Amino acid sequence: MEHRCKASNQLGDFKRTCGAPEQCTTSQGHPMDTKTASLTAGPRGPQLIQDHSYIDEMAHFDRERIPERVVHAKGAGAFGYFEVTHDISRYSKAAVFGAVGKRTPVAVRFSTVGGESGSADTVRDPRGFSVKFYTEQGNWDLVGNNTPIFFIRDPILFPSFIHTQKRNPATHLKDPDMFWDFITLRPESTHQVSFLFSDRGIPDGYRHMNGYGSHAFKLVNDKCQAVYCKFHYKTDQKIKCLPVERAAELSGANPDYGIKELYNAIADGNFPTWSFFVQIMTFEEAEASPFNPFDVTKVWPHGDYPLIPVGKLVLNRNPKNYFAEVEQLAFCPANMPPGIEASPDKMLQGRLFSYNDTHRHRLGPNYLSIPVNCPYRVRVKNYQRDGPMCMDNQDGAPNYFPNSFSGPVEDTQHACSSFPASGDVRRYETGHDDNFSQVTIFWNKVLNEAERERLVNNIAGHLKDAQMFLQQRAVKNFSQAHPEYGRRVRDALIRLQGPSAAQHLSNL
Ligand code: NDP
Repeated sequence: MEHRCKASNQLGDFKRTCGAPEQCTTSQGHPMDTKTASLTAGPRGPQLIQDHSYIDEMAHFDRERIPERVVHAKGAGAFGYFEVTHDISRYSKAAVFGAVGKRTPVAVRFSTVGGESGSADTVRDPRGFSVKFYTEQGNWDLVGNNTPIFFIRDPILFPSFIHTQKRNPATHLKDPDMFWDFITLRPESTHQVSFLFSDRGIPDGYRHMNGYGSHAFKLVNDKCQAVYCKFHYKTDQKIKCLPVERAAELSGANPDYGIKELYNAIADGNFPTWSFFVQIMTFEEAEASPFNPFDVTKVWPHGDYPLIPVGKLVLNRNPKNYFAEVEQLAFCPANMPPGIEASPDKMLQGRLFSYNDTHRHRLGPNYLSIPVNCPYRVRVKNYQRDGPMCMDNQDGAPNYFPNSFSGPVEDTQHACSSFPASGDVRRYETGHDDNFSQVTIFWNKVLNEAERERLVNNIAGHLKDAQMFLQQRAVKNFSQAHPEYGRRVRDALIRLQGPSAAQHLSNL
């Protein structure tokens, strides 16, 4: 059928390529005589417990699901490669940046954040943009989003923040009061909230958006000299966003729009690509920076820290099995090979722990043996053994260190760069840091008039469902970014809600 897309035709394509059907077996490999009748005493039952082929199938079916991700539960995956186009060895010794023309295999997962695994792809939400580089020095995971910033700057707030994006535990409904209460009590979120409610808050599928490592990281060269950096992927397909009405329509008619669109593009040979850049900041520049360069609610201005081209990301293969290769695909920002290191960014530090912790819960302690997660371009040699689903006993090598029996040894050339750290140990409240200056620039310089109007209407359309005192607090926050921003959100709220709202909002 010519009119059907590649994704819709997957089964037909399988049939064409596989030839005649093969013998069906149980999971133990025993040939099966029938798949359509259970074993019963007489035609009307009862069923017998010796019906092993039924029990074999049903028991496996009962265990088909693993816990979905707490965040980023709905996603699409694809595979391809990263190719170096420009030499940055002066900044990093990482093998992935080895030489111009060098290709490294990658796995990528795009996702929405707040919704469950069955939720619609076209909602207003940041999009996850995570890349696993299978390098010959172990896997590098750059676990980012389609925004260069985040809502909060201290990871201790993360569980609360995510709770407000999810369902009210009493009603099991999304709750605008929860959302706007938290957002307005933590005004550092204003920058990301402004991105979220702008046009780019609903990208058209996953191919037409940028990706960002978001945090500051460190690059270290072969002389052990370090600089701070940020990573950017710019879409070569051009930015494209969905108008609000179209997105709402697709949420009902085609909730898997993002997965399908990506699958078909790759299946049609229309491989999506992104240009990869770094921004570099020296330690001296970081020290002298007027803003905290490790605050993930802020960008590094391009004028001061220009984008330096590095390479190209190409996606040219669809998953062969979604569950095996995408649902079980496990990223962690802590997975960094020599030459790439963490910065002091508190949110990054919090994430370094949390991701692998989640995978041990979702997939088990041996999740790195799952092919899609395995650092397959190196042979892992360590002192970890056993655990559920262990498949490798490392050829009988000793399981303790130090030892006298040829167990794997260290190599100090791979030590991480040294850096000074000082300061009094205490809990530093960051809620009153600079929360608005970059939002002011975003409003003034980045958005044109039509984009400002849509931003204001998108915010008001959501904020109107929160209680009045939250609307008031939100208007005050937006006014701090720019008086016109606050005034226009207020006017839009009054337009949508009428005279009763005007009474509460007009003298703000
Ligand atoms: P520039 O003036 O050099 O560039 C503006 C940036 O904004 C571009 O990266 C552009 O992405 C991006 N952009 C355009 N529309 C939107 C939108 N609706 N939502 C999110 N991003 C958008 O930026 P500066 O570096 O001088 O920073 C000025 C302001 O731009 C910042 O305060 C920040 O709000 C925003 N910004 C900055 C980024 C950075 O890393 N410096 C990245 C993204 C936004 P594109 O080039 O793909 O069109």
